[in-house]
Amino acid sequence: MEFKLGGITTGPTSAGPERTKLLILGSGPAGLTAALYAARAELEPLVLTGLEIGGQVALTHIVENYPGFPEGVGGQELVDRFKEQAERFGARLVMDTATEVNLRTRPFQVKTYGNTYEADALIIATGASPRKLGVPGEEELTGRGVSYCATCDGWFFQDKEVIVVGGGDSALEEGLFLTRYASKVTVVHRRDQFRAGALMQKRARENPKMDFIMDTVVTEILGDDQVQAVRLKNVKTGEEYEKPIDGVFIFIGHIPNTDLFKGQLETDERGYLKVHDWVVTSIPGVFAAGEVADPVYRQVITSAGMGAAAAIRAGHYLDELAFEAQEAAKAARE
Ligand code: NAP
Repeated sequence: MEFKLGGITTGPTSAGPERTKLLILGSGPAGLTAALYAARAELEPLVLTGLEIGGQVALTHIVENYPGFPEGVGGQELVDRFKEQAERFGARLVMDTATEVNLRTRPFQVKTYGNTYEADALIIATGASPRKLGVPGEEELTGRGVSYCATCDGWFFQDKEVIVVGGGDSALEEGLFLTRYASKVTVVHRRDQFRAGALMQKRARENPKMDFIMDTVVTEILGDDQVQAVRLKNVKTGEEYEKPIDGVFIFIGHIPNTDLFKGQLETDERGYLKVHDWVVTSIPGVFAAGEVADPVYRQVITSAGMGAAAAIRAGHYLDELAFEAQEAAKAARE
C-alpha cells in the first residue's frame, strides 16, 4: 500500500525490490539539487527523503547568504522551492529512510523501513546531525529544556532565561534568534574568542539581551523533570559553579551521518565520507554530496553545488554503464 503526503509518497511502496537508475539518499540542499539536475538529465532519480525533508536548513529561521535572495529567505521556504523545482522535472520523492545498504553488489541494494531498492548509481546526501555535549543530564533532559533547534523550540522560552553553548556562527545566529522570545540569552563558549564571523559577532554584541561567558564549559545539566540549572567550569581558573537557567541550546557543530556506510566506504578520522574530484567516493557509481562529505565549507550553496556535481558525475557513470552493456550485447550477438 502507498500513501501520499503533501505530494510525497510514504510507507511501503511495493512488495519486491524496486529498481531505479539513480537513488538519492537525503533531501537537504545537496539531495534536492542532485534530484533537480538528475531529473533534467532524464536519469529518473528517486529520492529517499529521510524523516525530515530539507535537513538542517529547514530548521533555520532565515538564510541570508544564499544568492538570489537579497532580503534573505526562510529555511523551510527555500527547501519547499528546491523540492518544487526538482519535482517539476520529474524527480520522485519517497518519505522513507535507508536502514541498510549493500554497496558490494551490482546493482546496489538499499533497504528502508518500507521497501528494498536496487540502484545502478547512488548519491549519498545524508547530511550531518547535531553534536552532543556528552555531559550528565543532557540526554535525560533533551526535550525538557535541552534543545538543538532554536527555530523548533524557541517559542517555549517566552520571557525565560536560556544559555546557548558554542562559539561558531550557529551559536550566535541561533542565540540572536532566541532573543525574540527569551528575556536573556547567555552564550557559553569554551575559549576566549569566538569562531563565528565578524558580522555575527557584532550583531550578537550589540543585542542588549545577549550576554557572554567565555573560557567556560558546561559540565552538567541539572533538573528533575525540566532543566533548572547548569554546572559551569571556567577552564582557565578551574572555578566551578551552578547557574540557574530555564533552557540549554547546544550548537557545537555536527557529526556526519555515515554509520550506514561503515566498512564499505572510506571515511576520514572524523567520519566524513572521503571523496576525490569533489563528489566521487571510493566505490565507482557511488557519489557523495553535502555535509556528509564536507568538513570544511558546510554552506547551503556549497552543498547544493556538490549535489549538482554529483548528479552530473552520476549521469556520466550511467552513460558508461549503458555503453558497456550495449557493447557486451553486441559482442554476444557476434
Ligand atoms: P562550528 O563553526 O564548527 O563551531 C562549533 C563551535 O562549537 C566552536 O566554537 C567550537 O569551539 C564549539 N565546540 C565544539 N565542540 C565543543 C564541545 N564539545 N564543547 C563545547 N564547545 C564545543 O559549527 P557551526 O557554528 O555549526 O557552523 C558550521 C558551519 O556553518 C560553519 O562553516 C559556519 O560558518 C556555517 N554557518 C554559517 C552561518 C551564517 O553564515 N549565517 C550560520 C550558521 C552556520 P571552538 O571554537 O573552541 O572550536
